[in-house]
Amino acid sequence: MTKFASTLLDEVYDIPVSAWVYPENRLDGFSDYGVATKVLKYFIDNIGPYSYAKLANMQAKTQWGGLENAGTIAYFENSVNGKNEVEGLIAHEIAHQWFGNSASENDWNHVWLSEGFATYFAILYQESVYGNDKRKEELELDRKQIIDYYLQNPSPIVDPSITDPMKVLSINTYQKGGWVLNMLRHKLGDKVFWKGIQAYYKAYRDSNAMSADFQKIMEEISGEDLEEFFQQWLFTKGHPELKWDWSYAKKNLQINIEQLQKHHVFKFPIEIGVIKDGKTVIYQMDMENARKSLTIKLDYQPDDVILDPESWLLFEEKSN
Ligand SMILES: [Zn+2]
Repeated sequence: MTKFASTLLDEVYDIPVSAWVYPENRLDGFSDYGVATKVLKYFIDNIGPYSYAKLANMQAKTQWGGLENAGTIAYFENSVNGKNEVEGLIAHEIAHQWFGNSASENDWNHVWLSEGFATYFAILYQESVYGNDKRKEELELDRKQIIDYYLQNPSPIVDPSITDPMKVLSINTYQKGGWVLNMLRHKLGDKVFWKGIQAYYKAYRDSNAMSADFQKIMEEISGEDLEEFFQQWLFTKGHPELKWDWSYAKKNLQINIEQLQKHHVFKFPIEIGVIKDGKTVIYQMDMENARKSLTIKLDYQPDDVILDPESWLLFEEKSN
């Protein structure tokens, strides 16, 4: 028990949004937690109706960065300093009100349906405020963690062999789960992706789902067979480890890509950025085999060629 200073920050579609902080953190806390109103509006507008009567944001003693209790989120004590440094955390915990609290996994091994979703929806919110570069920046940080984690923990996102519930909360279920949604969005396009997300929330609001239920809804909405996509990203360990090179001669740009990991041949589209005078032109190639070459007719010698300039594919670049 403690004394709080509290304030009604605003009402968003009749949902009261409040901040509860220790009296000595009053001004900083009301300012930092103020973004909760923007976040709530973004998720209601893009996902669907909020499932609870209020949204309270509370400074608290918690062993976690944040804890997404339905309608009353607890944030760690030092989350308030008046510098707006926890906007991503606030967006993550508020996203849980949709995914994790309302539409929740039916089995703990499928917790990416909560944590991967909250991770990616926090990125989506930040992208909506700060632009596409913010999405790329966040995903690149996550990519590094995923690659490091895999070296020590070569397991898939959904791994029923992990029996310790705490170990299911990992870089795999958070950051890699988020990356899966980023790749799904790229595969389906923004319009279909959001339509699918809305349909999934509508179907499983105040209910429980498995990964297969999410897959089924995304297939219904997109009309695409997503079996391979979900199998390789959720139920197969690792990611493409790519060795590649490019060369230019006789107005042909040649790109050779090879998957080095031995346990599975991933299938994915990959974008290739051709850079000249600071401008990037993007080409796409579908990788279905362990190796592939692509020749692009090009009138000019590129200054550089890069893989995945827009951060749409989870892979590891291996040096030659
Ligand atoms: Zn979370």
